[in-house]
Amino acid sequence: MTKRHDVVIVGGGVAGLVAALEASHCGRSVMLLEARGRLGGAVQGVSLGGVTVDVGAESYAITRPDTIELIEQLGLTSQTVETRRSDSRLVVPTGILPMPQALLGIPTDPLSPAVVAIIGEEAAIVAAALDAEPVPDQWDPQLTLGALVRKRFGDQVADLITTPVVGGVHALHPDLAEAEAISPGITAAMIRHGGLAKAAAAMRSASGIPGSAVRGLQGGMSTLVTALVEALHAGGVDVRTDVTALNVNREGAQWLISTGSGSYIADDVVVALDARGAAKILREVTQIHAPLGRMRVGDVVVFAAVVQCTALDEDPLGSGALIAPSAHGLHAKAITHSSSKWAWVRNAYGPGRHMIRLSYGRDGVIQESLNELPAIAHADLEFLLGTAIAPFEDSYLARWNGSLLAPRVGHRAAVAELQAALAATPGLSVAVSGMAGNGLAGTIGQARASIAGVRN
Ligand SMILES: Cc1cc2nc3c(=O)[nH]c(=O)nc-3n(C[C@H](O)[C@H](O)[C@H](O)COP(=O)(O)OP(=O)(O)OC[C@H]3O[C@@H](n4cnc5c(N)ncnc54)[C@H](O)[C@@H]3O)c2cc1C
Repeated sequence: MTKRHDVVIVGGGVAGLVAALEASHCGRSVMLLEARGRLGGAVQGVSLGGVTVDVGAESYAITRPDTIELIEQLGLTSQTVETRRSDSRLVVPTGILPMPQALLGIPTDPLSPAVVAIIGEEAAIVAAALDAEPVPDQWDPQLTLGALVRKRFGDQVADLITTPVVGGVHALHPDLAEAEAISPGITAAMIRHGGLAKAAAAMRSASGIPGSAVRGLQGGMSTLVTALVEALHAGGVDVRTDVTALNVNREGAQWLISTGSGSYIADDVVVALDARGAAKILREVTQIHAPLGRMRVGDVVVFAAVVQCTALDEDPLGSGALIAPSAHGLHAKAITHSSSKWAWVRNAYGPGRHMIRLSYGRDGVIQESLNELPAIAHADLEFLLGTAIAPFEDSYLARWNGSLLAPRVGHRAAVAELQAALAATPGLSVAVSGMAGNGLAGTIGQARASIAGVRN
């Protein structure tokens, strides 16, 4: 039998949970369908060595208001925490070095000691000279970040600084990444300020936030999911887990959502999945499917572990490190020393016990066998610490398929086409990560925006 609801939300990640909460505030009957047995999607807390820690997203950007407002709305403001340390390292063939001041891998000063230590004095002088050249006032809108950095700073900066940073954050090579999708406004800032380094410096300071522009929650970002789910239950939202939507299509003036265990009819439907999953279930709504199919996502693995290791007490890696491809034969693309980055994690484990997260998957593809990953992670950590370490006390391997947005060339054109198609498709909203910016802040902003159509 087909059941009817005012609004059906497909996907129980943060986007779906936020969309469901907003829709319930409009006085509509709301049902949320989640394929897995748990809610939260890429925000997941797991008990490791007796402490619940994040194995997906672990922080949020404070450069835009949506997450801050949501946290306030859920009564979690007193739980927000700053990072204990935010000084990361860069692992390059010549060693493990301090991260230069940069905007997502674009240094703010190519002659700074940190940049010179990484690329050498000669290359730093070349980089400064290239960036002193006049800035053309027209740039290809589909320019890659790699091409931009190579043009203004040379290959050394692109290969040794930009590549590990963008690879670590987006699991994407900068030569494939659309510059304006990764750093919106970068070319206009470069024209205005007369150079890429000056543009990066101006955009960093424009946020007006001194120090780290991210925050976390005491107890982890999974506490946000717990609070959202409580609010949904209080608001009367019908939340169903273990229900996979297989197809979403028009049924007269309404929408038919087909699942493996029955179908639902709704006036409004919000598809809150990653772009790949959304494209799959909207395959029959061709004008929406086409641009979604051009938005790229990547697969990553997070290997989180607890290790007894006094060498980590002194925070030798700062808050963590981003790793240049194939540097020292390491497999990981990034490591976060969570007990160094977050005071609550450090206190929970106590001295000599540490939680680390290593991430794998370059350009969105996992090269390593998952069975071998615990041994690979152990070897990677031993190299990074320069010492033998005990076997992991506890560990968890989180595979994130399609969860990470990879804004390749053409990303913004696909988003614009998708927005236009949605405006012409009443009753259908899409809240796909990356439509309105990266990370949780963009996801939450987009989820809220997706409900605007439902309200009208
Ligand atoms: C490893 C990792 C680390 C990250 N770290 C950070 C960070 O520190 N800070 C930050 O701001 N951002 C971070 N992000 C990004 C952030 O987690 C995401 O932007 C955000 O969580 C995306 O939420 P979402 O609801 O759009 O998608 P998802 O979290 O992917 O949720 C989609 C949900 O839909 C469900 N689903 C899929 N298909 C179906 C179907 N057919 N039917 C029903 N349900 C379905 C899935 O099971 C999932 O629960 C990280 C991402 C990853 C992968």
